Amino acid sequence: MSATSRRFAAVPRSGIRTVLERAARVPGAVRLDAGDPCFATPAHIVEAALRAAAAGRTHYTPSAGVAPLRELIAAKLAARNGIACGADDVVVTAGACGGLFVAMLVLLDAGDEVLVPDPGWTGYPTLAASLGARAVPYRLDAGRGFALDLDEVAARIGPRTRAIVLNSPSNPTGAVLEPAAIEALVELAQRNGVWLLSDEAYEDVVFEGEHRSPAATGAGNVVSVFTLSKSYAMTGWRIGYVAAPGGLAASVARAQEAVASCVSSVSQAAAEAALAGPQDAVAEMREAYRSRRDEAVAQLAGAGLAPLPPRGAFYLLAATGGEDDALFAQRLLDEHEVAVVAGSAFGAGGRGSVRVSLCVERERLATGLERLVAALRPRALA
Ligand code: PLP
Repeated sequence: MSATSRRFAAVPRSGIRTVLERAARVPGAVRLDAGDPCFATPAHIVEAALRAAAAGRTHYTPSAGVAPLRELIAAKLAARNGIACGADDVVVTAGACGGLFVAMLVLLDAGDEVLVPDPGWTGYPTLAASLGARAVPYRLDAGRGFALDLDEVAARIGPRTRAIVLNSPSNPTGAVLEPAAIEALVELAQRNGVWLLSDEAYEDVVFEGEHRSPAATGAGNVVSVFTLSKSYAMTGWRIGYVAAPGGLAASVARAQEAVASCVSSVSQAAAEAALAGPQDAVAEMREAYRSRRDEAVAQLAGAGLAPLPPRGAFYLLAATGGEDDALFAQRLLDEHEVAVVAGSAFGAGGRGSVRVSLCVERERLATGLERLVAALRPRALA
């Protein structure tokens, strides 16, 4: 008897998690692999959580999340994202991971197809496969800064397509999609009767351009996924939310009952403080990522590499000069003690590059990049 179900056996392992584990076995390695902010969660958020726990907010909550938090989220979505919705259209989830999972659980049947960006975050194929659905990659246009190629997306839509995942700002490319491209994609999805699943994990990390939420168009086929992980340096709190139109949120909340009953009550108290409190830290962290981005791009450019400056999120893709990216990433860790993620972990479109995370201390980032350049030099720049 096999230990796992056939469906689970087919679930691919995230290439990011594999690197994290490998890198953890190299003490002192410069960690340019993880997408985990190097900042502490702002003190007023931590204090609110401590107060809530001490006051006994330590019990189950409604599956969709506590009402005051959902009201705060609905107000934030209206004010900052232009999404017209009420508290009943919102479900508090265990980060964007949890949000994407329950949204897909509600939207996808086994055998359905979901279109995912390539290169794109490693979680999408994993989530789809765990539900018996199939992730079908759509290539982003590398020649145009990884912009959306609408014809390519349209060509991937087939009879089993149920949803299209959109991720702007993008992990790993750093692309921020233009409003016109987002509107065109919403319209394409509507015309084909498919859902748009919009992962807006990096909405607050935009350096150039402007973050636009597809749901702001008012279309009834957009499910939006958000998280506090990146905006407020709250990755460990596991808190995010989904906004879904037309009564769908009730199903998403019911799906969550099966998975976790509800999100941690203490994390929900922290999220209330994050959304209701001062937002200075969000802007401060963004500016810190911006200066790391500028320094990293300048350092690589000075060494003869010319990475595409990310317009958002906190990663950049560095070309490996023709060397296989997985082998290069392994060699960089083994011989130079620098951990990065091989670009092919993000799909075929990431081949020939490695993803460098910018959310580390500046000196560590500079050291890591110096070693990366040294590792490349004998082959790529000789
Ligand atoms: N979506 C994208 C594009 C991500 O990069 C990540 C994490 O790196 C997530 C979702 C998951 O984030 P969370 O911590 O909110 O689950």
